[in-house]
Amino acid sequence: MDMERNLRKTTFRLYPTPKQEVALQSLLRSHQQLYNAALEERIDCWRKTGKRLSYADQCKSLTVLRRELPEWAEAANCSSQQMTLRRLDKAFAAFFRRVKAGQAPGFPRFKSLQRFPGFSFKTHGDGWRFTPGADWRHGTLRLLGLGHLRARGQARQGGDVRASDVLHRDGKWYLSLTLDIGTPQRQRTSNAAMAFDWGVETFLTGVDHAGEDVRLDNPRWWQSEKDHIKELQQSVSRKRNKRSNRRRKAVQRLSRARAKTARRRLDWAHQQTAKLARHYALVATEELRIANMTRSAAGTMEEPGRGVAQKAGLNREILDTAPALFTSLLRCKVLETGGEWVEAPTRKLKPSQRCPACWALAIKSLSMRMHACAECGHTEPRDLASARVVLSWAMGTHHGQELAGIGTRERPYETPSSAQQRVE
Ligand SMILES: [Zn+2]
Repeated sequence: MDMERNLRKTTFRLYPTPKQEVALQSLLRSHQQLYNAALEERIDCWRKTGKRLSYADQCKSLTVLRRELPEWAEAANCSSQQMTLRRLDKAFAAFFRRVKAGQAPGFPRFKSLQRFPGFSFKTHGDGWRFTPGADWRHGTLRLLGLGHLRARGQARQGGDVRASDVLHRDGKWYLSLTLDIGTPQRQRTSNAAMAFDWGVETFLTGVDHAGEDVRLDNPRWWQSEKDHIKELQQSVSRKRNKRSNRRRKAVQRLSRARAKTARRRLDWAHQQTAKLARHYALVATEELRIANMTRSAAGTMEEPGRGVAQKAGLNREILDTAPALFTSLLRCKVLETGGEWVEAPTRKLKPSQRCPACWALAIKSLSMRMHACAECGHTEPRDLASARVVLSWAMGTHHGQELAGIGTRERPYETPSSAQQRVE
């Protein structure tokens, strides 16, 4: 991690007055119109000349637009408008990247006001300023032409304000601030090591350096919120008339429930990852392979892949428990406390196929939840076994065996016991 720029995002809810609400709406509309106009400019230019417009080209067009038509110059801050052009540029970059990779991505779309996510500001003080309350609890956002907006929320740690996004979701306004928090303040309480894998029954399954299980259960409210959202989904799909008021209300209830669940899960993930990072000096896991695991195993209708049913079920579980979010939070916090974050090379190491006791490889299908080694007879649940393999590799304690093409990891980390042995 970059030690000089330790950036962190934190979100506040904005409470505009009715007058400010109208102004925010028109600001949002001006950015949406700019986005769509810039998209049209790109398409037009491509059709007429076969040339691709770049971000810099479009910034030049914006300058002309602001000079010739004062309503564009008055509508919004210039660097903020540039950020909207940047947003479109990113959409195109992602599109071309996926085309190049042989995928079939959707072409960047014109966005309706409802679907337009918001707008951004770059340099603090350029058209906007955020003043936090005491201890970074709540605060005020001053926007040029709108005055002071009330912001409610709490940053876990304050810092220098760098950039911001004003987001519009489900009729509510949010401020997402990017803070440079400088040197982190968190402290670690122990020098333990652990490796983890995603559980199916539990949220996370792991082992620590002493061989003890580390388990993190799904919170109890998880299932009931899932059921609740399912009910709301069914209620929406029962209302066939797309224009009816009752359907609109049902959609609103659903999206509110989803937002609430997402917030609750994020809070939970923050708490749990903070707890883990306080305790472990080394945390190891497999390279993030969620994209691989969740990529449909189905193949096509004509040529279905193998293990479709299991994998579909597994996909749901994986997507459901949101490991990507959890992993990135945990990684961030482990590094902040000066700990080590290790990602084991899944393809070479094959943790789910390998016996943690004798290191022999044996193919296991996804439905086999138990590891039972044909070589040495070692038996334990699959998730635990693969976490143990990852931890062994990360700590370099896999019985001194050189793994073909994997080698041992170079590590500054020492387990509490090996550090002690060296002293004696
Ligand atoms: Zn074995």
